[in-house]
Amino acid sequence: MSSNRELHSTRLGTTDEKGRRIMPQPDDVNGKWKNRRSLFYTFLIAVYLILPWIYVDGKQWVLLNIPKREFTLFGHIFHAYDSIYLIFVLLGFMLLIAFITSVWGRAWCGWACPQTVFIDQIYRKIERFVEGNARKRKALNRSPISFEKIFKKFSKWFLYLVVSLHIVHSFLGYFVGTRNLVNISFQAPSENWFLFVTMLILTGITLFDFGWFREQFCIIACPYGRFQSVLMDENSLVVAYDEKRGEPRRNVAKAPGEEGDCIDCFKCVKVCPTGIDIRRGTQMECIACTMCIDACDEIMRKMKRPEGLIKYTSEKELTGQKRKVGIRSFVYLSLLVVVMAGAVVGLSKRSSIKAQFLRMPGPPFTKIVEDEKELYINRFETKVQVIGRKGRTLSVESMDSNVEIVSGQLPLLISKDRESFVIFVKFKKQLLKNGVLSLPLKLIVRDGDSVEETMTEVGIVGPL
Ligand code: SF4
Ligand code: SF4
Repeated sequence: MSSNRELHSTRLGTTDEKGRRIMPQPDDVNGKWKNRRSLFYTFLIAVYLILPWIYVDGKQWVLLNIPKREFTLFGHIFHAYDSIYLIFVLLGFMLLIAFITSVWGRAWCGWACPQTVFIDQIYRKIERFVEGNARKRKALNRSPISFEKIFKKFSKWFLYLVVSLHIVHSFLGYFVGTRNLVNISFQAPSENWFLFVTMLILTGITLFDFGWFREQFCIIACPYGRFQSVLMDENSLVVAYDEKRGEPRRNVAKAPGEEGDCIDCFKCVKVCPTGIDIRRGTQMECIACTMCIDACDEIMRKMKRPEGLIKYTSEKELTGQKRKVGIRSFVYLSLLVVVMAGAVVGLSKRSSIKAQFLRMPGPPFTKIVEDEKELYINRFETKVQVIGRKGRTLSVESMDSNVEIVSGQLPLLISKDRESFVIFVKFKKQLLKNGVLSLPLKLIVRDGDSVEETMTEVGIVGPL
């Protein structure tokens, strides 16, 4: 592509006549939208990098421990049996994205997608720093192999590699724990093969995508890019060219006074990271990055014309109608509220204790005689997971007064998230039906005067 003026009417700006990829080299742009996005990107990157380093009471504030099936979100611990809440979170996230898309269009793509954020805020800056502006980069790409070209390409990819490694290590820190990861980093790779290979693969993918594949991911691979048009309607915000105001363009106008505000300078095309011409209408390749708005506003200011020839608007506003929040946005918002309310109610009822009774090895029951009465005993290893403050005490009570719970370890002082102890369940044969009984138990956690009780059940067995 020698010039963006040669954009083909039926071909993407990022492909040549043989369908080969032409990597866009967007011009630099400045303006209010660029400044706002830069600020927001910096905030998002800072959150991403800092969050896994926040520790409260010695515990990582956000940690997704998959092998232990323990997920710490902002200090709250969830376990595998809490996966119902994960479903709520995922559903809520999808509905939130659907709602945002229906109202603000592809705000996610332009403002929060990691692909856009990292490429625009870091990788393009490295590219510009090493190889210069778009004109110099294109010239360098066209130039024959030379020491300067090799040096610049090597430097650029070396810096990309350093950044990619940092991004990937931060990502792994959310799963492995950042302090743990620092320790692992000083060990030989052979001691953590799985992690090492995962890190290499993720770094390779990051380098490939953020360094080279870029807009092709948005155009070809991103599933959200495909179905976002289904979520949007004529009220959704899009970055659009005001055709009524811009046409006919100055270089095609037949007579003075006929011309619109577009001077056909192609600045909006030259800054576009996906290589499209927004004057051809809303397109699937547009990631709503607002670059063309800033570029055109700058031209309009120079031409002493009002800004906003390209702007955030809606299909309705472009046809002179008033924009309103569409019916599908209300539907998404209502479903989101229902899902969030369900999650809040579920969490408020969530017990902080979970118990698992494992029958001890050996015979399932033992007969004893006490005060000339024949009794039976079942032995269980009890594993409990306790969420919340340590230092409280745990005890177990039978809900049937004819059944006795005996344990030398109870009441137990809770000092860890997972505790285990042995209980003996002592009962008379007459309580059993066909040799079995489902016995209701009460787990009681005491913290000073406050008491939390959780009901559970254990299956006991005896003679028929
Ligand atoms: S930047 Fe504005 S004036 Fe220039 S071609 Fe694009 S729409 Fe027309
Ligand atoms: S058309 Fe404008 S908003 Fe859309 S991707 Fe290109 S520069 Fe960004």
